[in-house]
Amino acid sequence: MMRLPWFKYHAPRSVAEAARILAAEGSQAMLIAGGTDLLPNMKRRHQSPATLVSLRQVEGLKRTANGSGLRLGAGLTLTEVLNTAVVRGKYLALWQAAAQVATPHLRNMGTLGGNLCLDTRCSYYNQNEDWRRAIDFCMKKDGEICWVATGSKRCLAVSSTDTAPALIALGAKVELVSTAGEREVSLADLYKNDGMDYLSRRADEILTEVSLPKLEGWKSTYWKLRRRGSFDFPVLGVAAAVRAAPDGTVEEARVVLGAVSSRPIVTKAGDLLVGRKLTDEAIAEAGEKCSSAAKPMDNTDLDLYWRRDVVSAFVGYALREIRGDDMRAIRMRIARQVL
Ligand SMILES: Cc1cc2nc3c(=O)[nH]c(=O)nc-3n(C[C@H](O)[C@H](O)[C@H](O)COP(=O)(O)OP(=O)(O)OC[C@H]3O[C@@H](n4cnc5c(N)ncnc54)[C@H](O)[C@@H]3O)c2cc1C
Ligand code: SF4
Repeated sequence: MMRLPWFKYHAPRSVAEAARILAAEGSQAMLIAGGTDLLPNMKRRHQSPATLVSLRQVEGLKRTANGSGLRLGAGLTLTEVLNTAVVRGKYLALWQAAAQVATPHLRNMGTLGGNLCLDTRCSYYNQNEDWRRAIDFCMKKDGEICWVATGSKRCLAVSSTDTAPALIALGAKVELVSTAGEREVSLADLYKNDGMDYLSRRADEILTEVSLPKLEGWKSTYWKLRRRGSFDFPVLGVAAAVRAAPDGTVEEARVVLGAVSSRPIVTKAGDLLVGRKLTDEAIAEAGEKCSSAAKPMDNTDLDLYWRRDVVSAFVGYALREIRGDDMRAIRMRIARQVL
């Protein structure tokens, strides 16, 4: 049985109190929300914080506000996000992404903030301590070398959050709060292309809120590739959001890829669609553009080359669904398939 290391536990009641504790404890402290990522990681000794600062009782982190846009508290569980009617009505890509995270039990505990700050993953890293010791560890934790690319100077672990690509496609921003004040950054800028130092969030900052613009006339969708349809981390996520004129000409579009790099990739496929209709030809070009932007490595499930090839097909599914094609049969097949 894997046991947790010892740690001090704080349960602050306000964001200000949580920020003060984080600032005082320094780099030895970590935030914990639902704990569905952090606690298994601590059991495997990926992280061994001396202090955990819990967000579960912090007031205000579950607030939602729907007016000139949508504001979602970072402490909302994924189930609570799914039960927020406006998310399904207006921000479908987020709803679809959250619905495909893990299992119902994990979505009942796991939060939106925790999902956005999820640790990057790699088949040489997400192993217990003895397994990792047997390969002399790796650069991300306790070792020197990257086993995925031995010449690489940086860790290539994979961004595996489902909701981040969807929220980026929807134009989300996040609020970060510390004792030094608060700042708002676009969600795309929260991520860095570095498997170890994957967030631009400082260690003393708390992600308190996600805000989305009012998206009149937009359609969005999220498609996920994983081995088991019941639950699994993504090996590819495709989020697309499109605003089109009444005649179908695309006015704005964003296509974001998840799980094929150390951060979500905002592709140039959106620009390529502007001023055109979502014809088969335009969709195929967008798919090719995304395929060349994807940088999957041989450190997650399923064959590397097949995963790269399948990017354009998944982008095609997403854009065809937004065009209005009936994609239910393909969705069902993917959801059921054990690849
Ligand atoms: C079996 C299994 C399957 C899973 N499948 C998926 C999946 O398919 N897709 C997926 O995306 N995830 C998956 N997960 C991961 C996890 O369950 C979810 O990502 C969940 O949303 C994490 O949220 P949490 O609140 O539990 O995060 P925690 O575990 O509490 O925290 C995760 C990280 O975020 C930091 N953090 C948490 N909240 C904040 C905040 N407000 N501000 C700043 N930092 C914060 C923590 O310090 C920690 O580093 C899976 C996990 C398991 C165990
Ligand atoms: S990508 Fe390399 S350094 Fe990063 S976790 Fe995997 S093996 Fe370790």
